Amino acid sequence: MMASHYKTPVTVIGGFLGAGKTTYLNHLLRSANGRYAVLVNDFGAVNIDAALIAKHDGETMTLANGCVCCSIGSGFLDTLGRVLDGGTVFDHIIIEASGVGDPWRIAEIALVEPSLRLNAVIVLADASRIANLLDDTRVGDTVRGQFDRANLVLLTKVDLLDRAAVDATRSTITALRPGVAIVETTEHSLPGLPDGTFKPASRFNAANGNRTDHELNFRRWSYVRTGAFDRDALAKALKALPPQLLRLKGTCRFADNVSPWLLQMIGQDWMLTPLPDGLSQDSGILLVGVGTDALPDTDRLDTILDAALVQSNSVTTADTNHRQATFTL
Ligand SMILES: [Zn+2]
Repeated sequence: MMASHYKTPVTVIGGFLGAGKTTYLNHLLRSANGRYAVLVNDFGAVNIDAALIAKHDGETMTLANGCVCCSIGSGFLDTLGRVLDGGTVFDHIIIEASGVGDPWRIAEIALVEPSLRLNAVIVLADASRIANLLDDTRVGDTVRGQFDRANLVLLTKVDLLDRAAVDATRSTITALRPGVAIVETTEHSLPGLPDGTFKPASRFNAANGNRTDHELNFRRWSYVRTGAFDRDALAKALKALPPQLLRLKGTCRFADNVSPWLLQMIGQDWMLTPLPDGLSQDSGILLVGVGTDALPDTDRLDTILDAALVQSNSVTTADTNHRQATFTL
């Protein structure tokens, strides 16, 4: 085959907020043999996910300016154009859809662009949450739409459930998308990239008139502060955040410890882990949230978290201007 006929394989990774997309992407990058181009679309105002992507041989690019699937316009196509025309031949292009995005709308690009070959549309589902999300009137339609035309579903975090519950979740997915391949995973047992060629089903039709606008259905919040939190006060503040906040994620610091921490909250569950080595070492606090369209004003949300800040005179707040500049706000 002549080089000019090379088609770069494209895999799109989708799944609702908190399903484990970034964890999976980092797994793929750490076990990659080849040069990957990675395009990451965060719905949040600050592209936190891109900052949390492991270093790899290829390139990571961020897709800012909102939900890519709603605006397959200049931003996304420009970035893709840079990947294709940049002089580097990539072994694979991986696109991480935003947590509220429709991965298929992104995948359609690979079907129409002659230099690309759609390899797979992988949708992640948190085994412990997916049934509730599908039943949630606020987000159910968005979640359901993500599975439409997926050709591989990764059921994540199955180690949190017993066998009967995992089987029930499998049935839920199968009812949604009959015949789809389902792979059960934990954080420590994630598969590599499937080596497939996506077979466009007869349902392929880019002109689908029934499209939701994720920009209207979901709201963003970003919280940027110098200084640090008090641990106990933060626990209280997180509990006080309204249920319309679906996801909160980012880095923060505590007065009693100089190391940066990764805060992740899904619904009312939150967890703090030390920021992995090699990722941005920022001082201060940078959190991004995604909520439903009924999310209260960001001023109100800011006030809740501000109550958890320690007095600034007891914390070192140097270098904060620098750190804010490392993110595209
Ligand atoms: Zn969208």
